[in-house]
Amino acid sequence: MAREITKRSEDYAQWYIDVVLKGDMADYSPVKGCMVIKPNGFGIWENIQRSLDRLFKETGHTNAYFPLFIPESFLTKEAEHVEGFAPECAVVTHAGGKELEERLVVRPTSETIIWAKYRDWISSYRDLPILINQWANVCRWEMRTRLFLRTTEFLWQEGHTAHATHEDAEEEAYRMVHVYRQFAEEYMAMPVIVGRKTQLEKFAGALHTYCIEAMMQDGRALQSGTSHHLGQNFAKAFDVKFQDRDKELKYVHATSWGVSTRLIGGMIMSHSDDNGMVVPPRLAPLPVVLVPIWRSEEEQERVLGKAREITRDWDPLFYKIDDRDQYKPGFKFNYWEVRGVPLRIELGPRDCDNNQVVAVRRDTGEKNILGMDNLRESVQKLLDEIQQDMFNAAKRRMDESTHTLDDYEEFKQRADRGGFFRVHWCGDEACERQFQEDTKSTIRCIPFDGEDEAGQCIVCGKPSERRVVVAQGY
Ligand SMILES: [Zn+2]
Repeated sequence: MAREITKRSEDYAQWYIDVVLKGDMADYSPVKGCMVIKPNGFGIWENIQRSLDRLFKETGHTNAYFPLFIPESFLTKEAEHVEGFAPECAVVTHAGGKELEERLVVRPTSETIIWAKYRDWISSYRDLPILINQWANVCRWEMRTRLFLRTTEFLWQEGHTAHATHEDAEEEAYRMVHVYRQFAEEYMAMPVIVGRKTQLEKFAGALHTYCIEAMMQDGRALQSGTSHHLGQNFAKAFDVKFQDRDKELKYVHATSWGVSTRLIGGMIMSHSDDNGMVVPPRLAPLPVVLVPIWRSEEEQERVLGKAREITRDWDPLFYKIDDRDQYKPGFKFNYWEVRGVPLRIELGPRDCDNNQVVAVRRDTGEKNILGMDNLRESVQKLLDEIQQDMFNAAKRRMDESTHTLDDYEEFKQRADRGGFFRVHWCGDEACERQFQEDTKSTIRCIPFDGEDEAGQCIVCGKPSERRVVVAQGY
């Protein structure tokens, strides 16, 4: 297999496509803008699902499933929401051979259909909170698509919770954005900035939106997860009230939160290199591949026998022995490298004599000689190191490409080169639109970890209390 991955330094956008296709992650679909997720990509999604699902359940949530089709009238009930989503909706007008009485929207998100049901399910404070998540596909008719990052149909999870008080909903929205931060950093090895979106950038129909923002290797930002405090907007639109302890009828408070297959695009652009995919061990569908090396049939038998012996007690999902005899070792090395397997173990006749193996890290290419005794433990130790080192490398890159700026002219010049810019902003939407226009950058978030610091808005010079993070985004 030829290794024709465009270098990042030559054409970053083309590099990304090459890595996705050659890494066997996904393929184009006959329907423009849709995507086929291949086993190597879907295996990563399954691991994302499994790990996140556990974090959701540990924080009290359960899964349910709501229908793909939503009556069109539901979408129009929340004014901001319909304005935000209507242009991207796919609408079913005909089914069963005739025109439908009411047109059906293919869900772009499920707030409306879920809140229509919550109306039936909630009558008293005793029914609250409801903490439901759903794993589903959604459809948003995008004009410009890119594998994993922006596709017309994508897979995601959407949490939809109902609470008795503003404070409970606020706590939930805040908790979930931190679950996303934990997942991004501990599983994806992807450092993120956590913060609040501006009113201009928030979710259509939310009071406010919390988000995690990651930096890709080209310095651009990727919004990787969002958590919305919806206030009582959807409860009012769908007339969902409950009788509180004080016997008063009140509207329910809501949150919603989601991450999607976009995370895989973020993972690729955080870690992969000019040789293809680099997958963090905790998300790798195949953490370890063992490549036996032989020149004669006699050696083949001996080396394969040893390979099977040393992995006898290993979990079959943890490793694979590449015993294909139609390919040379060099071919196999490339084959697994481009697919991002975190650790390759090489085993030849001399290694058998010396009671050792050679373990090669995908992230750094570093070779480690490991003794065959306690091999499973030393392999796990190495995988843990890879996971941590990948996070550290991404964190270093993000820190090095984050700049504090106070001069608007300088900001305009530097914005195109990528990176996060911490600048003062007065809070005025006019200034926000101004630097969008001048630099194609947006306020990614008002970071939680930002310190209060008096300054002057980088655009208009009016007083500002803290810095915001601005960057060009995906
Ligand atoms: Zn300003």
